[in-house]
Amino acid sequence: MNKLLRYINPITHLGEGQYSIAFPLIANLLLCIISEAYAYGVARDPMVVGVYIIFLNVFFILYFSFRDGLRGGFIASAISILYYFYIIYTRHYTGGQLTSAVQTTIILALLYSLIAYIIGWLKQRIDHLIEHEADEKIRLQTILQQLPVGVVITDNKGRVTQANKQLGRIFGVKVPIGYTVSKDKSLVQSLGLNAGPDASRSTIYQVLKTGKPISGKEYSIQRKDGKTAQIQVNASAIKDKKQRVIAAASIINDISAQKELERQKDDFLSMASHELKTPITSLKMFVELQGMQLKEKNPQKAKYFNDRISDQVGKLKELASDLLDVSRIQTGKLRFTMEKFDITEVIQDTVEGLQVVSKKHKLIFQNGKTITVQGDKYRIYQVLVNLITNAVKYSPNGKQIILRVKPGKREVVISIRDFGIGIDKDQQKKIFDKLYQVGGSEEKTFPGLGLGLYISKEIVGRHKGRIWLDSKKGKGSTFYFSLPIYTGKE
Ligand code: ADP
Repeated sequence: MNKLLRYINPITHLGEGQYSIAFPLIANLLLCIISEAYAYGVARDPMVVGVYIIFLNVFFILYFSFRDGLRGGFIASAISILYYFYIIYTRHYTGGQLTSAVQTTIILALLYSLIAYIIGWLKQRIDHLIEHEADEKIRLQTILQQLPVGVVITDNKGRVTQANKQLGRIFGVKVPIGYTVSKDKSLVQSLGLNAGPDASRSTIYQVLKTGKPISGKEYSIQRKDGKTAQIQVNASAIKDKKQRVIAAASIINDISAQKELERQKDDFLSMASHELKTPITSLKMFVELQGMQLKEKNPQKAKYFNDRISDQVGKLKELASDLLDVSRIQTGKLRFTMEKFDITEVIQDTVEGLQVVSKKHKLIFQNGKTITVQGDKYRIYQVLVNLITNAVKYSPNGKQIILRVKPGKREVVISIRDFGIGIDKDQQKKIFDKLYQVGGSEEKTFPGLGLGLYISKEIVGRHKGRIWLDSKKGKGSTFYFSLPIYTGKE
């Protein structure tokens, strides 16, 4: 029944843009048949038809042009006029009666067409406008949903009319449509989330009240999943042509990552200045001590301090080149000079060089056969130095560092094993990140900037190799890296 009523009710079809042919055709034909049946069967006077049928036809034309547009109206008009001619023909009008009946029918035909045209056109225009508005709404909805920021739109009473998915993601809870923003609480607080003191007043309400935009309001929120997010809110009023506030739109940006980056930058600056200060202070001290020894004509001791000065200058140089490399990686300017070389020989040279300065540890490497790789010899040397100095640095009680080189079918794997402090499983992936240092109390005693492994990973990656590790806290670590073996084919 409901379905039938919906089908008949022209209002329910507004905006659908679908116009039936069968329904107006069948309904109007039925009207003619019933009218004929009434005239011949019930009234038993074929002449009674003309009076009431005009009203019914006008009603049908109005109804069908409003339900089925121009098409519906014209079908109703055409059937009505054809019926009138049928009546003229079957009732055998003659003389003046026939002329006036034909004239009336022609006038009615014009009138009906006019009604059908005006109402039908209006109906189709309304449908078009509704469809257009719906399209606009869908378009706006799609744009809103695709935006990388959270958006909430309220009416002038603070009732939420639109809220996109991203907003739900930032807050960790869905903002329901129809939800009314509280006057003296921020939206996040009204949703039951903990927020910083800056969030205590509703931005949306302020904007609705004053009509003035609010930008860059920042505060932190505690989400229900326990995570904290830093958000930035920008809100503005939407006004009509007469400058009356009709709605408010608020844009919420998750700036947690940006804030974290700022914090990391600050940390990095303070760490870098600390790392620079240590060798500079030592340098100053050794230069003074050397000066004193020279004055006292004690060349042996002066030479000792000279070596320390050289150590500290080396450290400074290393720091500066690490910082430069990081900036080169980030700007894509880390250049490589490719050549063919024997990796075994490079490891041997590096081990010999570092053994001189690492007196506490024995660097063990059994020189094997020649393995040719293609790459930047200096950069690979840099990776080896990084990994060996780390092995030395993080094994203060260890005595040995064992290096191995294992050629496979396509790649050669180089390993550096220490017996030092080791690394927890959950930290192992992160240590290759820029500026990452294991934050334990034991690790904090070691100097460093957390750049060596990041640079090494980039260098190995650019050689189409891999870098990884195997480590157990308290037992030591083995770092591995692979390089493709040179096969003669580029
Ligand atoms: P840095 O040594 O300057 O801090 P790296 O990028 O070389 O920076 O290393 C990152 C972190 O990884 C170090 O801070 C340290 O916590 C950990 N790490 C690196 N190598 C070892 C190792 N051989 N043993 C234990 N921990 C290590």
